[in-house]
Amino acid sequence: MPESDCPMCRGAAADDELERTRVWEDAYWRLTVSLATIVPGFAYLEPKRHIAFITELDGEEARTFGTVLAASTRRLKEATDADIVYIYIFGDGVPHLHLHLAPHRAGDALNDQMIRGEITEEKMPNGMTRIVSLDFPPIPRERLLEIAARVREGLR
Ligand SMILES: [Zn+2]
Repeated sequence: MPESDCPMCRGAAADDELERTRVWEDAYWRLTVSLATIVPGFAYLEPKRHIAFITELDGEEARTFGTVLAASTRRLKEATDADIVYIYIFGDGVPHLHLHLAPHRAGDALNDQMIRGEITEEKMPNGMTRIVSLDFPPIPRERLLEIAARVREGLR
């Protein structure tokens, strides 16, 4: 999608089309709340500049990201009386970075699963719960260690 066709690059001009309303912005970021959702306070945080994916985040947007994300989620949590705010970044829909900020309360419409298939929970010795999909076999530990090593090497 060329930037000229990107709805998120149109900012406020696209809010009606995207069924959302602006609640905050600064020089780099824009926060809007959805007007068509089953989740009260479901919001979108996106850079004003066309940054396609989280992997391309740089410049002032990268420098301010943490502060803006904390303030946005804190306000959404307070305003909706949520227990917590989930954050989703997909990137395979509209290629303009946007974070889905979803205030969550027990029993609401949100799903806390990251994986597909028949889900089961395993209790770990430390008391935490591991989510497992019965449709996808576990990846051997050696393979996961190889991937971790590759990531570690690239970050030096
Ligand atoms: Zn864009």
